[in-house]
Amino acid sequence: MMGLYSIRMRGAEGGPHEEGGRHISGAERIVEEHDLESVAASLIHRALQHSKGKSDFINIRIDAVHDEDIAYVDCIAIDEHQTESVKESHELAKELLQSVVTNKAVEQAFTELGQLPGNMRGAILLDANTGVRLDQDNMRGVRVSHMDACGTEIRPMNVHMREALVLATKVQSCPGIVGELCWSDDPDYTVGYVACNGVYHRIPNMKDMGNPIGGRVFFVDINRPIHEIVDYLENITVLVRW
Ligand code: AMP
Repeated sequence: MMGLYSIRMRGAEGGPHEEGGRHISGAERIVEEHDLESVAASLIHRALQHSKGKSDFINIRIDAVHDEDIAYVDCIAIDEHQTESVKESHELAKELLQSVVTNKAVEQAFTELGQLPGNMRGAILLDANTGVRLDQDNMRGVRVSHMDACGTEIRPMNVHMREALVLATKVQSCPGIVGELCWSDDPDYTVGYVACNGVYHRIPNMKDMGNPIGGRVFFVDINRPIHEIVDYLENITVLVRW
């Protein structure tokens, strides 16, 4: 097998993130060497053409990855739901999550996402039983990284869905995590999802059109040190098999 590289992009407006710039776009891929240049070009395009604005700072980082450090995971199943309103979608999401999370924790997740003052960079970790927040409780959250898919795609899908499915599959493969709730921070994209029991439940109308705030919650159900969960999500390379 040819050598693989992790390529990660983050773009911000008003300067670098670490100097207070506003996050515009971030994305990453794991690709073979001969695809690096074209993938870099498409990531730059995204940083410049995002509906949230135009990045004036773009960082691209490339690291070789060694095959022995890669975990291969099968893509989770997809279930598409139809709904008519945000209210109906949230009720459906709560119902689906209640197979793995207490009512209290589900309600807490919606409260946390509903009162975010802006977009977090990562996800909130919640105890699936008590609803207590387990991460550092700031606007950074836990940022899942080092993942992509390999092989031929199972079906046509837009870039949002592809990335969400890869992320949700990595998160579902993490021992200790039983569920996920998400909607996008892209003002034009109102589809969200719930992932649990090995299924990605794609749900339309998870927020109102034009709303620029999104978020993610991961529900943790076993007594496992949080730093181990965070380390898996942030640092272990996962390739999803379609
Ligand atoms: P997106 O679906 O990319 O619009 O992201 C929606 C929300 O999920 C963002 O506002 C972040 O709070 C969170 N998020 C985005 N990317 C990640 C990631 N790689 N890991 C964890 N949370 C993320």
